[in-house]
Amino acid sequence: DPLIAKVICEDCDKAVEIVKDFWFKQERGKCSVCGGDGSDLDEDWRYYVDGQKGISELVGIRVLCKKCHLAKHQGYAKVNGKSKEALEQLAKINGVSSVKDLVENAFLIHFELSKIFDWTFKLSALSEPLRGKAEKLLNTAYKNNFLLKGNWLYYIGKNHGKIEEESIGRTIQLLKSNKDLLYIAISSVSEKATVLINEFNTFIKMINDTLEKLKRSENILMAEYLTGKWMIFVKKDIYPKFFKRIIEVLGDEVYELKIDDGSSQFHSNKELPVIVYVPSALDFEYIIKVEDSIKKVMKEFNINKDLFFKPDIFTEKGIYSGNSELKPYIYFTSVQRRKATAYRA
Ligand SMILES: [Zn+2]
Repeated sequence: DPLIAKVICEDCDKAVEIVKDFWFKQERGKCSVCGGDGSDLDEDWRYYVDGQKGISELVGIRVLCKKCHLAKHQGYAKVNGKSKEALEQLAKINGVSSVKDLVENAFLIHFELSKIFDWTFKLSALSEPLRGKAEKLLNTAYKNNFLLKGNWLYYIGKNHGKIEEESIGRTIQLLKSNKDLLYIAISSVSEKATVLINEFNTFIKMINDTLEKLKRSENILMAEYLTGKWMIFVKKDIYPKFFKRIIEVLGDEVYELKIDDGSSQFHSNKELPVIVYVPSALDFEYIIKVEDSIKKVMKEFNINKDLFFKPDIFTEKGIYSGNSELKPYIYFTSVQRRKATAYRA
C-alpha cells in the first residue's frame, strides 16, 4: 500500500504503485510445474553468501497452482498443519517416493541463511525502469530495518538480540525463584494492567514444557512460545504515522513491531492493528515499558481505548475472539486506569 510505503521512505509510495501495477498485469494461465490451474504467482529467489554478507536475487516469476505453491513453501505448510499434503505433492511432481531428506536439508540451509543480517536485493527478473525503482524500495526498506513478510511490514529494532537476551534472562531468574507466576504477574502489572486469571493459567499450562526446560538449562535457545504482543487498533488515516511514532518513542528499546502492509483482507476495515512484540510474556519489566510507550503515543493522537496483550501461542493455536471459551489475551489495560479486579473475580 502506497500509504504504508511512506513509512519506509518519502518517495517509496511511487515505487509501490509501479510494482503493484506490474504484479496485477501478470498473466496467470497454467501452472508452470504441473500444468494445473495456475492461480498463484511465485517469486523464484536465489541466495548467494559471502562471509557475513548475502545477495538475494529474484531470478524469475512463475505461475503455480495452489498445490505446487504449497509444495514449495514447506515451512509455511508445517506451521499450518499441511505438511503431509505439501510433501506428497513435492514427491509427485519430482517423480520420487520420498522428499523428506530433501526438505530437511532445505530447512537446514534456511536456518544458515537466517543468520545473515546484511542482505542486498537484486531483481533480475524485472526489466527497467521497474527494476531500479523496486530494488531501491527493497534495499532502502531493509537498510532502515524494515522487512516485508506475508501481509505485514515489520520493523526490527537494532538491539533486537540484546533485548531478547535480557528479557529471557529475567524470565529465567523468575522461574528459578519458584514464585507463583500468577501472583507475580498480578503484583507486577497491577498499576498498569489487569491479568485475566483463566487465560493466564491456560497460557502457563500451554508452555509448561518450555518453562521446565528453560529453568533446567538456563539456555535462552529453549525459549519457545514465550513471545507475545501488545495490540491496538487505530484508524487508517493515522496508521503509518502512529507506527512510526512508536518506533521513535521506544528508541533503543524497540524489539519488533509490525503493521498490515495494505494487501491483506483486513485492509478494507476502518481500523487496523499495530502489533508490538515482546520476547517474553513473563518479563513484566519490558512489557510495562512497551505499554508505557504505546500509551504515550496514544495520548499524542488522542486515542482513548484498551490495549490487549496476546501470547503468540494463542495465535498459533487459533484462539481468536469469538471462537473460543477463552479471551484471546492475558493482560489488558485502558487509558482510564481500571482497578485490578480480575484477581478476585
Ligand atoms: Zn501445479
